[in-house]
Amino acid sequence: MAKAIKRAFFCNECGADYPRWQGQCIACHTWNTITEVRLAASSTSRAERLNGYAGSATGNQVQKLSAISLEALPRFSY
Ligand SMILES: [Zn+2]
Repeated sequence: MAKAIKRAFFCNECGADYPRWQGQCIACHTWNTITEVRLAASSTSRAERLNGYAGSATGNQVQKLSAISLEALPRFSY
């Protein structure tokens, strides 16, 4: 379960989404209109969040609460 690459399949005709690819769209009954869309951006941003969190944890010892909160906000916003 370590790999969590999000994939979605959308019909080009009606925009219906499916959890996996299929030859015919159930909504509009059109063949070969469903295309795969990979949401790779979420995995990369997740890795960046983990790196940022580890960095803040190591330099977190002698900072004031006000300074920490000012640095933490841009790291968690995306
Ligand atoms: Zn469709």
